[in-house]
Amino acid sequence: MEMKERLKIPRQKMSGQDPKERIHNFQEVPTGLTEEQAILEANRCLQCKHQPCIKGCPVKVKIPEFISLMAQGKFMEAAWKIKETNSLPAVCGRVCPQEIQCEVECVRGKTGEPVAIGYLERFAADYERNQGKIVIPEKVPTTGKKVAVVGSGPSGLTAAGDLIKLGHEVVIFEALHKPGGVLVYGIPEFRLPKEIVFAEVDYLKKQGVELKLNKVIGQARTIDEFMTEDGFDAVFIGVGAGLPIFMKIPGENLIGVYSANEYLTRANLMKAYLKDKADTPIIKGRNVTVIGGGNVAMDSLRTALRLGADNAYCVYRRTRTEMPARNEEIEHAEQEGVKFNFLRNPVRIIGDDNGWVKGMEVMKMKLGEPDSSCRRRPVPIPGSEYIIETDVVIVAIGAGPNPLLTSTMKDLKLNRWGYIVADEVGRTSKPGVWAGGDIVTGAATVILAAGAGKKAAQSIHEWLMQEPGKDGEREWPFDL
Ligand SMILES: Cc1cc2nc3c(=O)[nH]c(=O)nc-3n(C[C@H](O)[C@H](O)[C@H](O)COP(=O)(O)OP(=O)(O)OC[C@H]3O[C@@H](n4cnc5c(N)ncnc54)[C@H](O)[C@@H]3O)c2cc1C
Repeated sequence: MEMKERLKIPRQKMSGQDPKERIHNFQEVPTGLTEEQAILEANRCLQCKHQPCIKGCPVKVKIPEFISLMAQGKFMEAAWKIKETNSLPAVCGRVCPQEIQCEVECVRGKTGEPVAIGYLERFAADYERNQGKIVIPEKVPTTGKKVAVVGSGPSGLTAAGDLIKLGHEVVIFEALHKPGGVLVYGIPEFRLPKEIVFAEVDYLKKQGVELKLNKVIGQARTIDEFMTEDGFDAVFIGVGAGLPIFMKIPGENLIGVYSANEYLTRANLMKAYLKDKADTPIIKGRNVTVIGGGNVAMDSLRTALRLGADNAYCVYRRTRTEMPARNEEIEHAEQEGVKFNFLRNPVRIIGDDNGWVKGMEVMKMKLGEPDSSCRRRPVPIPGSEYIIETDVVIVAIGAGPNPLLTSTMKDLKLNRWGYIVADEVGRTSKPGVWAGGDIVTGAATVILAAGAGKKAAQSIHEWLMQEPGKDGEREWPFDL
């Protein structure tokens, strides 16, 4: 296609369920591009020589190369090209914040709309899965080394996938009864269908990765036991940061107050919305208030509407501009009827005589000078307090590291917030132990967690392939 024609193609819009319909079901909202749209969108790419989009991608997906294949209708080849650097493209195509990563660097975005890189990634990955032609890589000769991966979120799954391809024996230990980490227990079905995550896990199992569910490491087994009794040569820790943080305001122990983590786990993992298939209790509430402005808050609000709430209120202490949630998630929440209360901060939650939530006192805020996050600091306006009526409150202000595993490892260096200290390839202070994902960085993104798993897998491989010194030990250059 001539350049002139390519420049005229508008960014393709993904169709999806109507907001009025979708708030009554948990099916995925956007339905994906058609083949024709995918080819048109791929033709919008200018194939820039300096490839700025790759700079924006934390795992350096070969974006212009896969898009060029898509423009020729070679969707399967495009999927394989993406998989050279990203093992979870169907997931990342759906949940990555492309607008602040690859797409923000796209030259087409300087004068109009950037190429829809995320849509194209999703299309290629779905195409490969739907064709049922997923190619299992040929088994490489085994190295005889055994690696334990703790946690089956994006960091653990990626590390396991890369390690098995390098010939190591890999066992994943997961505390929950289903694999996938936040992708399964946190992000709702309407944003990321679970069959996609389970297909990725199946792919790993077909390659020989062993998966042990319901195994809380730190309780069932310790990392030291892995190394001294169970014959593991190395360990990757990817346990995420799933410990809910509360506001520490009066009333947080009332009935009807949830952490977003618990609320979403009940709804997603425990399928509280499938009345005929699961009997997981969840308080649906008529007026549900969610505190926070990130993706987790948006997921909780939209879940509340789908569970039948009349009103879902977002209480956020800054304005829409400072909200950390992805733009698309905020827009979807707005379309679905979420009501936003900006510049409001909770003061206390109010209960009735039986201990059930009946309201929440909030204080108005104004924006002051920027703080360490470079966002303008919310400043309370004294005397502006008032009460909002609500029967469910969901606290979605963040999560921290769970000390359950790390407290059993006295020789593991943690930072002052309890996250594991690791170098750029994931090496920790304990020889033979790597860590990556949210347990190192704090709550971040799927692609960063996957990238950490990838770097760690390569480093584990190099270490395991090293000849031990005269003392039988391999070098452990950890210096942080
Ligand atoms: C509701 C929600 C929505 C999000 N939305 C987005 C989004 O749209 N886009 C985006 O990029 N990011 C999003 N994120 C963030 C993203 O999901 C995380 O950054 C990412 O999942 C972190 O991956 P991880 O592998 O470090 O850990 P996790 O995904 O947290 O997985 C850790 C796994 O380890 C297991 N585990 C924990 N302790 C143990 C133990 N002791 N023994 C064995 N197993 C253990 C856990 O059960 C879990 O399965 C969202 C997060 C949440 C909570």
